[in-house]
Amino acid sequence: MKKHVVLYKKLSAPLMARLHEAATVTLIESLDATGLAQLREALPTAHGLLGASLRLDAQLLDLAPRLEAVASVSVGVDNYDIDYLTQRGILLSNTPDVLTETTADTGFALILATARRVVELANMVRAGNWNQNIGPLHFGSDVHGKTLGIIGMGRIGEALAQRGHFGFGMPVIYHSHSPKPAVEQRFGAQYRSLPDLLQQADFVCLTLPLTAETQGLIGAREFALMGPETIFINISRGKVVDEAALVEALQQRTIRAAGLDVFEREPLNHDSPLLRLNNVVATPHIGSATHETREAMARCAVDNLLAALAGERPKNLVNPSVWKA
Ligand code: NAP
Repeated sequence: MKKHVVLYKKLSAPLMARLHEAATVTLIESLDATGLAQLREALPTAHGLLGASLRLDAQLLDLAPRLEAVASVSVGVDNYDIDYLTQRGILLSNTPDVLTETTADTGFALILATARRVVELANMVRAGNWNQNIGPLHFGSDVHGKTLGIIGMGRIGEALAQRGHFGFGMPVIYHSHSPKPAVEQRFGAQYRSLPDLLQQADFVCLTLPLTAETQGLIGAREFALMGPETIFINISRGKVVDEAALVEALQQRTIRAAGLDVFEREPLNHDSPLLRLNNVVATPHIGSATHETREAMARCAVDNLLAALAGERPKNLVNPSVWKA
């Protein structure tokens, strides 16, 4: 008998066809109240789950006694109770690598947009307020040659370093759990303690996962170490940052600007103080959001799920201790 797969993310026609061939599929079209009720109804018979942007905690997982595998369409796995999945022997997979370059592109878009004040000045033109040649009041700051500071030198951090080093002639400094000799060799990157990086980087970029250890990592004390010209970029997860402390630093201009793709709460509240600041560029969690990359991520998740349901080890297994070879 075919296994039952519950999708809470719509896939392209070719990927849907692949899943239908291998499994009985229930598609939850959206994660609104109706969708969540449909999901709860489908979970008792589900063998596989595939989707993103849903907090899958023990309470929800307890509704799915037959669950064998969960395939996340994301690299970040902060939405999953990994300990509980592991305890239940459920395989969790994610989609690393395929989104690395696109997410680094987003990081660079935010670096350029904040430093050159692209959104603020484009809005000025659109509002009909470009009445004379602009002067120092509207000047931005250079990106090329400035020091790029990367916190979390993993796949995305490395892709950001590559862009900064080869594309913009930027000296690269980084902080991570451990030094990365290969990155140092390729990009001339230098390891720094977190306080040293915060003090020395012109651009402080977060490319860390959200974990118990990184939650709230950047708060008032860390913003105080940055200088008035520092530009802060977050393409990791909102909860790595104390958002109130960030707002304070931006309002007091103790840092120059922020480019933010992720927030403590998403979607961002319309009345967030961040949206009243000209020195903020806020994007709606678009790190990997291109047609090509989202399709590649979905394909990767389908591969992982079908492998797991066929009794094979998924390529991108997050909790390898579950795997019994
Ligand atoms: P990755 O390859 O695992 O890299 C993460 C790096 O962070 C690792 O190199 C790790 O260092 C470092 N790290 C972890 N905890 C740390 C800590 N407490 N202090 C210092 N360094 C720490 O992951 P990735 O593929 O680059 O993705 C990174 C994160 O980006 C994801 O988890 C996700 O949350 C986020 N992301 C966001 C978007 C978006 O749409 N904005 C898109 C994709 C990914 P070591 O190697 O030394 O352990």
